[in-house]
Amino acid sequence: MNNHTVDFLSFGNLVIRRLAEYVQDSRHGQDKVLLQIPPDVLARDLKLEKWVKNGGIDLKGMDDFLSVYLKNSQHLHHPNYMGHQVTSPHLASSMADLIHGVINNPMAIYEMGPSAAVIEKFLIQWMLQKIGWYSGNLNDFDDDPNQGAGIMTHGGSLANLTALTAARSAADPDAWSTGISKNLVVLAPEEVHYSIARSIAILGLGSNALIPLPVDKHFRIKPHKLKEIYKQITSEGKKIMAVVINACATATGLYDPVEEVALFCNAHDLWLHVDGAHGMSALLSNREKHKLRGIKMANSAIWDAHKMLRTSALAAAVLFRKKEFMENAFQQKGSYLFHDKEGIGFDLMPYTIECTKTALATKLFWVLAAQGEKGLSRYIEDMTDITLKFYHLLKDRIDFECPYKPESNILCFRYLGVPPDNDSQLKLRNKIIQRGKHYITSTEIGGIRYLRTVILNEFSAQTHLEALIKEIIFVAKTLKPLYN
Ligand SMILES: *Cc1c(COP(=O)(O)O)cnc(C)c1O
Repeated sequence: MNNHTVDFLSFGNLVIRRLAEYVQDSRHGQDKVLLQIPPDVLARDLKLEKWVKNGGIDLKGMDDFLSVYLKNSQHLHHPNYMGHQVTSPHLASSMADLIHGVINNPMAIYEMGPSAAVIEKFLIQWMLQKIGWYSGNLNDFDDDPNQGAGIMTHGGSLANLTALTAARSAADPDAWSTGISKNLVVLAPEEVHYSIARSIAILGLGSNALIPLPVDKHFRIKPHKLKEIYKQITSEGKKIMAVVINACATATGLYDPVEEVALFCNAHDLWLHVDGAHGMSALLSNREKHKLRGIKMANSAIWDAHKMLRTSALAAAVLFRKKEFMENAFQQKGSYLFHDKEGIGFDLMPYTIECTKTALATKLFWVLAAQGEKGLSRYIEDMTDITLKFYHLLKDRIDFECPYKPESNILCFRYLGVPPDNDSQLKLRNKIIQRGKHYITSTEIGGIRYLRTVILNEFSAQTHLEALIKEIIFVAKTLKPLYN
């Protein structure tokens, strides 16, 4: 392939044709969801050594390469893909990846990509409006200090770190220049995403500063216990930098009681951060949004578009109730990029950990441009409904156990036809994905190992759930001899 537009057209044509076939076949459940072969074999089949050393790939080479590459991928469009929270993307989202790949406009400063920059700010305002942190015209790009603000980041983990950096600035304003001076701690339920603990350690608090909040038997915060723990911590001379809650939790898909915690935080002047990487999208559904009631009172929140807003990975947002929260996160001045703006537009770079970044919001734009808010709302409701359906299918059986009724599209359960130890569930899961017909995950909550599904594919239907149940029972039988 030369650097010619003629090549671009013919290679592009081939790639799009092959991808369309791949999606079609995946949706019909033709191939395995996942085929795993040893890495050295795969590298050889992909002819990596040849292409890397010599270059010069032609159409035939590309075609062969794609066959191997796509076959050895995780097939997210397959209706039996029910694994991680990475979505089966709306195909429109790929338009953004293609356009960005060609024009390459890393738009953290306005002049490096005005169109992409405008789309980011517009969609950040759109998200803020859903939370209740922005009112008025989405087309207004003049900063209003009374409105919320936010930024897109490469993933929710970085978004969490950004939000907690802002919380640290609020709790200990000198920490940026002189290091942490106060005895800062963060309160969060034990089932909080690991990026929270990492952020706290990165921010210099030390991982021991993460204090687990009491939870109920379904691992949700018990809000009436907050007062007690607050009294105890403050009496020890510690300062609470932030309270972090799940909306919803990664492992269970259950929402912490946002409103009750928010009221407590407001009354005690505590920074509330809502980790809504997965569950914030419920805001788009009139039926589902009550799960986030009270979120308007929080200080910061995150929202992944590559989970329930159907974009390819990655596209996440960190959002703040007030612009000053975001402005205070990184109090760095004086470099060539952070001079006062004289030209047209706005620069996003002062507010992120990253320097160069992708046109992240354009992915979300294309999903919305294709199906609109209504389409996304329906998608979120459909995924919740099918998960509830699965819950009822399992609940009606004596050989399965579900610890809770799902509140989103995440469901944990155990198969009881194997010995009751954690290892058996793990073995079951591993054997299932080895066989490659279904893809599910597993998780440990409260010391108990569960199988876990996340249903994100609009083509996943009851027949696929029934097939999964059959597969689990079948695989358990093949494992049996191992237990004797
Ligand atoms: C997925 C998830 C994250 C991490 O987001 P990434 O985009 O994978 O970095 C953080 N918090 C919660 C609750 C999540 O579900």
